[in-house]
Order: sequence, then structure tokens, then C-alpha cells
Amino acid sequence: MSGILVVLERQGGAWHKMSFEALAGALELGRATGLSVSVCVPASGAREAAAEAAVAGVDGVTVLEHEALEAYAADAWVEALAEWIAGVRPDYVVFPHTYQTRDFAPALAARFGRTLMADSTGFFVEGGLPVFERPLFQGKHIGRFVFETPAPNFVSFQAGAFRGVPPAGGAAPVAVKRPSLDAARIRQRPEPPFRETAQAVDLSAAERIVAVGRGIQDEGNLELARQLAAAFGAELAASRPIIDSGWLPADRQVGSSGQTVAPRLYIALGISGALQHIVGMKGAGCIVAINRDAKAPIFEIADYALIGDLFEIAPALIGALSS
Ligand SMILES: Cc1cc2nc3c(=O)[nH]c(=O)nc-3n(C[C@H](O)[C@H](O)[C@H](O)COP(=O)(O)OP(=O)(O)OC[C@H]3O[C@@H](n4cnc5c(N)ncnc54)[C@H](O)[C@@H]3O)c2cc1C
Repeated sequence: MSGILVVLERQGGAWHKMSFEALAGALELGRATGLSVSVCVPASGAREAAAEAAVAGVDGVTVLEHEALEAYAADAWVEALAEWIAGVRPDYVVFPHTYQTRDFAPALAARFGRTLMADSTGFFVEGGLPVFERPLFQGKHIGRFVFETPAPNFVSFQAGAFRGVPPAGGAAPVAVKRPSLDAARIRQRPEPPFRETAQAVDLSAAERIVAVGRGIQDEGNLELARQLAAAFGAELAASRPIIDSGWLPADRQVGSSGQTVAPRLYIALGISGALQHIVGMKGAGCIVAINRDAKAPIFEIADYALIGDLFEIAPALIGALSS
């Protein structure tokens, strides 16, 4: 068989929202190249849910069902998918933009002597072949890549690259297969899964947001961001590195693995504008970016660009607002 195989992810008994985007991207790739699209869901007890992915344009859905796939472990996913891919021999294997993909997909690609083309933001077709695009150097350049290796080739789509809608089912057949997983080859013992943003603060309802990024440099400097937020009567939010450092709670994170916000005013303070961040705030009414790097990607979507040192600009803004 040739075609496109899209691997969808379930987490805690529900679809990972990035799965919808990967499915949308795979369907678009199928339409552009004329290749068929099939779906694969490594999971346990997900037959009914998997039927939701049997949408128009999908040839078939297969659930790889095994108790070892119940809780995520990279080895188990690599084993199960390697066996399935070797059997169906797709041209392209497409993954969603998730932590799990980051974890297992490179190892899976390596099994076939391939590399993973990660974080593609789109493609166009030239000479019958898809040319995948991907930002390089913090979004300052766009790289274009064509696979020269024989099938299967592996690609993951960046968050926000395609508009995903929750799949509502269709007529494509749904099958359940049991991979022959060798327990001895599964070395990991999974711990409780990492939680992507518990939403105690509903940033989506905020009218104004001051979001702070790694440009703030130090936890002690967060006070400046707090004062700026207070001066604007805004909620305080952050990019992911600030959350990962434990400087603010997870529900303050904006982006693909955080909250999606659309305030009237969004002030990005020392945020570079990585796609994973932009996807969560590009719907803001007015974006003000404060960054000392004039070429930072955040300026591409900013309505107002304040180029300079945030430690000079923020106090000046606070001073101006309070006088
Ligand atoms: C699966 C996955 C999911 C992710 N999800 C998210 C997500 O939900 N949200 C998110 O934000 N990120 C997410 N990321 C991370 C994302 O890729 C970026 O690494 C992150 O957004 C960068 O954060 P930043 O802009 O704060 O830091 P950086 O990219 O380091 O940018 C810091 C910026 O501050 C500027 N700066 C430094 N000092 C000063 C100064 N004194 N004055 C003014 N400007 C200054 C610099 O010029 C730079 O542009 C995710 C990544 C992965 C792999």
C-alpha cells in the first residue's frame, strides 16, 4: 500500500487537540498529492472513539490495541507502530505536534533509517512531490525540504499549521489490530502523565494581558511584569519557559500547550514569538511587542513594535500610565 498514514494521539481517554490538526494536515496532503489517507490510533479500548476519525477523505482507521499502549511508553509505541508501518508501507507518516511525538517519533523514524521532519508548518507540491516548509533560526528563515529517501518518510505538523476540527465520524471502516508487542523490549515504566495546563485562571476571558517571556531573565524581575500588568489593569501571562522554570503557575501559560487567548490588548514582554506561543495569542485585537531584537518573529504579528531593552521600556510605560 502507498499513501499517507496519520498517527493520532489519545490522552487520558480523550483526543489530544493536536490530533485534529494533524488529521487536517494529512487530508490536505492527500488532496494535494492524490495519495490516500489512513488513520492509526495506538491506544487501548478506543474503538468507539477511533470511529470519530473515520471522516470523509479517510480510507480506513486502525486502532492498535494492546494493554502496553494504555499508558504511554516510547518503546511500546515504537514497537507497535514500526510493525504496523512495515506492514502497510505508507509513503508518508504524519504526526501531531505533541510531547509524545517529540519523544518517540525520532526513534521510530530511525528504525526505518529515516529522520523525522519535525514541526512542518505547511507544504506545496512541486514535480508531484510535497515540499515541506519549516521555520529555521527562531523563525527568521523558512527552510524547504523534499524527502529523497524511499518510503516511508516521517513528518510532524507544527501547532497551528492546519485548522483542526473535532472529527465527527464517517463511513470509513474501523479495524482493531493487536500488535505483537514483546514485553521484554519495553524498558520504560510510565509515571503519571505530565499535565498540560490546569486552567484555574481563565485567561481567555481577559480583556488585557501582559505576557512575560524569557527576556525577563530572572524570577526576581517578574515584579516588573506584575507592575506593568497592574498599570494596564491586565492579567499576567507567560511563555512556556517561564512556566517550566516554575516562576508562574501552569494556568498562566499561553500557547499550543497552554491557553488560547484573544484579549483586546496583548503586551508581549521579552517574548521571541515562537510558533507555539503565537498560535495561542494571534487572535488578540492589538499586539504590542517589547523586544530588543528587531528581527524577533513576534514583530511580524505585532501592531506596535517597541524595540529596545524591556528594563527601560517597561518602567517608562508604568511611569507614563501612573502620571
Ligand atoms: C511541544 C511544545 C509545546 C510548546 N508549547 C508552548 C506554549 O504553549 N507556549 C509557549 O510560549 N511556548 C511553547 N513552547 C516553547 C516554544 O517553542 C519557545 O521555546 C518559547 O515560546 C520561547 O519562549 P520565549 O519567547 O519566552 O523565550 P525566547 O525564545 O528565549 O525569547 C526571549 C526573547 O526575549 C528577548 N529579550 C531578551 N532580553 C531582553 C531585554 N532585556 N529586553 C527586551 N527583550 C529581551 C530576546 O530578544 C528574545 O526574543 C513549546 C515547545 C514545544 C516543543
